[in-house]
Amino acid sequence: MTSSSLYPTFARVDLSFETGEGAWLHGSDGRTYLDFGSGIAVTSLGHAHPHLVATLQTQAAKVWHTSNIFRIPEQERLGDRLVAETFADRVFFTNSGAEALEAAIKTARRYHYVNEEPERYRIITFEGAFHGRTLATIAAGGQQKYLEGFGPKVDGFDQVVFGDIAAVEDAIGPDTGAILIEPIQGEGGVRPVPHAFLRELRALCDRTGLLLIFDEVQTGVGRTGRLFAHEWSGITPDIMAIAKGIGGGFPLGACLATEEAAKGMTPGVHGTTFGGNPLAMAVGNAVLDVVLAPGFLDEVNRIGLILKQKLAGLVDGHPEVFELVRGEGLMLGLKCRVPSGDVVAAMRSVGILGVGAGDNTVRLLPPLIVGEAEVSAAFERLEAAALKIETVLEAERAAAEAEEEAEIAS
Ligand SMILES: *Cc1c(COP(=O)(O)O)cnc(C)c1O
Repeated sequence: MTSSSLYPTFARVDLSFETGEGAWLHGSDGRTYLDFGSGIAVTSLGHAHPHLVATLQTQAAKVWHTSNIFRIPEQERLGDRLVAETFADRVFFTNSGAEALEAAIKTARRYHYVNEEPERYRIITFEGAFHGRTLATIAAGGQQKYLEGFGPKVDGFDQVVFGDIAAVEDAIGPDTGAILIEPIQGEGGVRPVPHAFLRELRALCDRTGLLLIFDEVQTGVGRTGRLFAHEWSGITPDIMAIAKGIGGGFPLGACLATEEAAKGMTPGVHGTTFGGNPLAMAVGNAVLDVVLAPGFLDEVNRIGLILKQKLAGLVDGHPEVFELVRGEGLMLGLKCRVPSGDVVAAMRSVGILGVGAGDNTVRLLPPLIVGEAEVSAAFERLEAAALKIETVLEAERAAAEAEEEAEIAS
């Protein structure tokens, strides 16, 4: 199946893709797939977007890498644009989401350190969270399956139940310095955090001197119909990690912070070789060109609503397969009544890609450029996948009945 030279850490599907355009991918099996996974919310503008391709090609012929020893004009430009569009005053660029989270965690700890409260290094996180696969971020995520066998869990993370403000208050001690949360849990199963809860967290942080950190690695850069998901709640964090969608498929992440929260990040305390390199910065700027264009996010919202309505109809029509639909914009989840892995496989067999997640949910994360035609095509394919699963359920029931009758007869 897959090459034996690679770590077998991924349960890979025996399928690859050579080309793609927009929301479509051409498979090694000769079939065409509707890509409603976007490489897990990464190819935010679809495949082979002309502006991204042209930008990367142009930059590739200029300069690839010079190191953060020197000024990088495209990095300054992308930083300025992110600052102009958000709560943030300062940006640190990384190559991935986990590194953006590491920068966020370090920023929070340094803040309290320079405030002469170095004991406030602990961070409260939530059950079902996912923050990456580095040693610190698996500790932050707190999931046993990712921690097992990797030695002592990195100290400094206290996990509380999802959506319970009293539990958060109880978890705050003299050594607590921050609260870290995804506005919508992605890997956890597209579980939106109520806007009121985010506002309560903001108030709690203001009251107790904690920093509020948002992990918008998956929810950010237009995915939910706003540039950042927290905008729906009307409050802002002190620190935010982003990645995935901002690179449109190029490895790129960033940690954003207010001037105050970032005050401990002084020369020499943190660094990166590749983060913010000219190739990544050119692409990040090109992604923003598209996402910030007038009307783009309105269209994400319009299409997201149409998709969500269709999915609600799908759930109603197939109550044995699906339980409910949830999410915002083009970050939608179908919670299933059959194993979600079976649904992802059935979807693939009829030519649509989705992504499994926790809480028995299938994630639908189409590129933000999808139109009504792709939504209709997705709906037809999801219907076909549901029918396939129902046929299997039907056959299983018939077999069980036949067995029962045979037993009665004997
Ligand atoms: C994907 C993801 C990460 C980790 O990003 P990597 O680029 O894989 O390191 C962190 N947080 C959230 C919410 C994510 O979805």
